[in-house]
Amino acid sequence: MNKLLRGIVTFNSKNRKNYLAGIQKVEEQIVKPMAVFITCMDCRLDPPQFLQAVPGEIFIIRNPGNMVPFFDPAGQHTLSAEGGGLELGCIMNGIGDVVVCGHSDCKAVNSLYTQRYDHAMLQEPNSPLKSWLSAHGLRTVHKFNELFSEEEQQRSVKGETILGGFKLNFGLDSFVCHVDPENKFPIEDKLSQFHTLQQASHIASYPILRPYIATGDIRVHAMWFDIPRGEMHLFNASRGHFAPVTESELEEWKDKEQS
Ligand SMILES: [Zn+2]
Repeated sequence: MNKLLRGIVTFNSKNRKNYLAGIQKVEEQIVKPMAVFITCMDCRLDPPQFLQAVPGEIFIIRNPGNMVPFFDPAGQHTLSAEGGGLELGCIMNGIGDVVVCGHSDCKAVNSLYTQRYDHAMLQEPNSPLKSWLSAHGLRTVHKFNELFSEEEQQRSVKGETILGGFKLNFGLDSFVCHVDPENKFPIEDKLSQFHTLQQASHIASYPILRPYIATGDIRVHAMWFDIPRGEMHLFNASRGHFAPVTESELEEWKDKEQS
C-alpha cells in the first residue's frame, strides 16, 4: 500500500498538471474517444501504453479472461458490466470500433484448458472465478473441443500439424480462420487466440448493437498480446489469422478505411 500512496504523491507533484491539461482537451472535444477496448485484467497488460493512448481516447473494460458475456435473452446472461460498458461506449458516446484483446499465458484461459474435459471443476459455487469462467468461457471450450479432436490438439503440440480452419463471424459475413498457423505458440495460447475470436463474436449477440454492426457503424476487431515478446497482434479477417501489427499492416488498414 505504501508504494501505491507514494505513487499518488508523485503523480500529484509531477504528472497532475499534464493529466488535467489532457482532460481539458477531452472537454473541449479536441481528444475524442476512439474505441471500446475489452481485455483481461492481467496486471502485465497495460493497454494505454501499448496503444499509446491518452486519457479520453479509449474506454477500457477489463475482467478475468477478456470475456464478452453472450447476450442470451432466453437465459440468465442479459445483465453484465461488459454489456453495460458496450452500451455506454458505443451508444451513449458513439464509438465505432470495439476491440476484444486476449493475451499469452492468460491464467483464466489456462484454467479453461486444464479443465476442458472436467467442467465440474469449473462449477464450484464457492469460487466466483470458476463460476465466471464457467458462465462465459465454456462456450469457447466446447467449440474448441468440437472443432479439434484431442488427437489433433496433441499433434499440434508435437508440431506435427496445425489446427484446422474454422468459420466465424463478427455479425457480418463469416470468414475462415486459423489460430497460430505457424505453430509458434503453446496449445494454451492457441486456445487463448481462439477464445479471443470467440468472445469478439459475442459482441453481435447484443440486440442494441446489431443494427450498427450491420451498417458498419460499429466494427468489431480482435487483438492478442504476446507478453514475452511485447508484441501486439491484430486479427486480419481477409488473411484469417492474427499477425503482429507492423507499418505495412497500418498501410493496409488506411486503404481499407479510405475505400
Ligand atoms: Zn488473462
